[in-house]
Amino acid sequence: MPYAYDDQNIFAKILRGEIPNKTVYESAHSLAFHDIQPQAPVHVLVIPKGPYVTYDHFAAEASDAEIADYSRAIAEVCRIVDVAPGNDGGGYRLISNAGEAGVQEVPHLHVHVLGGRVLGRMLK
Ligand code: 5GP
Repeated sequence: MPYAYDDQNIFAKILRGEIPNKTVYESAHSLAFHDIQPQAPVHVLVIPKGPYVTYDHFAAEASDAEIADYSRAIAEVCRIVDVAPGNDGGGYRLISNAGEAGVQEVPHLHVHVLGGRVLGRMLK
């Protein structure tokens, strides 16, 4: 698929400071913040700061430094979510919806990190 990035998407506006967010982690190339409509007691979104729509777009065009930074950001957010207030039992799930098949709502790469309730079995 072609990689056309729409800089009017909501996460681009968050990155430009046009819309507020509740930041839980920030690094040179990544930002993580609470989802505005949490689907679990703890629901954090982790995004790269660069203009990438999906993970495959990121793989095609991001630098090694961005990829390393984003990988670290996701891992650190998992550590934060695992012990976050509201996630008493610990544990979490990662999800990244991409494109039509993935039913992606916001066209800026993001990983959901969810915890705090038993999320039910998937992929079975
Ligand atoms: P997707 O369906 O694209 O994987 O998920 C997009 C997520 O972005 C949804 O969970 C939605 O609640 C969240 N979201 C949409 N608009 C905003 C916003 O303005 N602020 C925050 N923090 N999250 C948003």
